[in-house]
This record gives sequence, C-alpha cells and structure tokens, in this order.
Amino acid sequence: MARVYNFSAGPSMLPESVLRTAQAEMLEYGSSGQSVMEMSHRSSVYDAIIKETEAALRRVLCIPDNYKVGFIQGGASTQFAMVPMNLMTTGEADYLVTGQFSGKAAKEAEKFGRVNVPASSKDKNFTYIPDVDAVEYSKNASYIHICENNTIYGTRFTKLPHADGVPLVADLSSCILSRPTDVSQYGLIYFGVQKNVAPAGMAVAIIREDLMENARTDIARPAMLDYKTLIDAESMYNTPPCYTIYMMGLVLKWIETEVGGLANMEARNNAKAKLLYDYLDGSSFFSNPVNKPDRSIMNVTFTSPSPELDKKFCAEAAAAGFVNLKGHRSVGGMRASIYNAMPAEGVEKLVEFMKQFEADNA
Ligand code: PMP
Repeated sequence: MARVYNFSAGPSMLPESVLRTAQAEMLEYGSSGQSVMEMSHRSSVYDAIIKETEAALRRVLCIPDNYKVGFIQGGASTQFAMVPMNLMTTGEADYLVTGQFSGKAAKEAEKFGRVNVPASSKDKNFTYIPDVDAVEYSKNASYIHICENNTIYGTRFTKLPHADGVPLVADLSSCILSRPTDVSQYGLIYFGVQKNVAPAGMAVAIIREDLMENARTDIARPAMLDYKTLIDAESMYNTPPCYTIYMMGLVLKWIETEVGGLANMEARNNAKAKLLYDYLDGSSFFSNPVNKPDRSIMNVTFTSPSPELDKKFCAEAAAAGFVNLKGHRSVGGMRASIYNAMPAEGVEKLVEFMKQFEADNA
C-alpha cells in the first residue's frame, strides 16, 4: 500500500487511525451483526451513534447549552440559502465578501432580501481581510455574514466583526475544529464536513436557540430548509447521512483521545503552517501573495516564477506522492491544503521536495 500525501482542498485526508477503525467495523459494528451503512436510522444502535456524535462535538467545541446542533444535507452551499430564509428577519443583512464562497453566499441571500456589502477585499484579488473594526455595518441588518477561512485564497479572519446586538453568522467549512472556537461569539456557525470532519455529504449548523425560535415568518420555507423543523426532530426529520455522521464521530474521538483537544490541534496546525510559510518567505523562487497577518493555517497558496513552472511543479510533485497541489482554477498557482489530518511529516517532506525543485529549476 502506498498512501499519498493528499493536499486536496476537500474532500481531503482523514486520519489514518480513523480509516482503520472504519475498516475494522465495516462488516459488523459492535455486536450488531451489520455495517453502519446498512442500519436503520431509527434503530437503537444508530441512535446511540448520532447522539454520541453530537455530544462529542459539544464537548470538543465547548458548545453552550443555549445552542442547538443540526446535521443537514446539501453541504455548505445549502446553508447559503437556509441562513437568509430563516434568519433575515428584518429583510436585510450584511455580507463581508472576502472570496468566492462569501460571494456566493451573498448572491444566494439576494434572492431572499436586501444584501449589503459593507466590506470586500476584491480590490486586491482577495489577498487580505478588511479591518473589521473600520467597517460601517448597516443599522437594520438581521445578521453579519463572514466566511472565516477562505479556502481558495488562503486567508482567514483573526478578529471577528461585531456590531451591537447583531448576530454573527459564519461559514467555518475550511477551519472548523482546527483550533478552539468561542461559540458564544456567533449567532450561527455552519460548515460542510468534507475538509476537517468527515467524508462529504453533510453540513453542520450550530445555532443560538433564540435565533432558531424567532425565525422569519414572512416567507414559506420548505420543511427541509427550516432549522427548527430539522433540529426539533434531532436531525432525523428524514433519513440523515448515517455513515457520514458515524465517521464524524470517529474523527471527534481522534481529536479527543489521540490529539488531546483543540488547543493541541491548533499547536500542530500552527507548526505545520509555519514550516511552509517560513520556507516560502525565505525562497526567492516560490512566493505567497497573502497579507501576512491574514494568512490561513489551513490553505497555503503559492506560485513559482511562471505558469509553466507551476505546471511542471504540480506534475513532478504528484509523481513523488504529493497530490492535489494545483491552485483553484480561478487563481492558478499552487495551494497546499494542510487540514487537521495532514501529518507534520507530509508538510516536512513537501518542503524538502520544494527545496529540491527550487534548486533544480531556479
Ligand atoms: N464554504 C467554504 C469556505 C468552502 O470551502 C466550500 C467548499 N470548498 C463551500 C462553502 C461549499 O461547500 P459545499 O461543497 O459543501 O457546498
């Protein structure tokens, strides 16, 4: 077996020990005589799995009791619509546009009300995060929406926007569980699970109870797009993505028992990112375009001196076992996504490979 170092932006690597547990439990989960894939979601065995997965998420993120958790199909993109359909109670909201996904979220929200964009980093191709304290938020906004880590551009918010009494809604798809998060700072957090949490197939919403209870009443929402309907039914209004939830439980167990919680997770991630950024900063061949304080610790973008060399780099890296390093089609260059499950060794070896490529091609 030759497993590669997979730098994909998502779906992405899962911890090897998690995959091994899933493999060992594939044919029979516990003494149930069946695979989790085959189980009725209404069975007592499965009920224990979904309840423990939510409980583990609550422990790991220290989610306060006045927040509800929902496991919701349709990925993060469906959340782009659910957020305004449920929470845009005043008919308008503020969206900070710092990349493609926050742009898509804003565009989707326009279908359900007025979208204000009080700040954007489009002027510099999304290579920085606007100063959140200098932004003029709208008086009548129902919420302020951000994408906390910009997967494509490799930036992240290090400070959260705050306007008196206006809830913050944040897409944490590409940074959830990468470091401790103070959930009480948010009205709603959502994330697609396919980067740091599980195989693809679901998003998770963590919503402050009063926001869920006081959802907008001026539009009819399909039941499947109503937070209260889904969450009151304990994420079992319909058949949930059972296997993805089981895998999420295994990943959370890995964070709790093998990593030792999110403070350790953050230290690991900071060390991996530092290794790569330090090398990029010292290199006269590769470079990273992002404003330093806003650099993501999950997605590291870089370019070589030419598109031809970028292409050569990606091809030779793939042949050496470092795959999916090609940058997003909208920005070009390279991107190394170094999520939780990427071992430090993968980044160390990548840097060695980059040094050699620099020496051979400079
Ligand atoms: N938000 C962010 C920050 C993302 O990185 C992505 C996907 N890469 C999405 C939203 C869209 O997620 P999904 O494919 O689950 O709809």
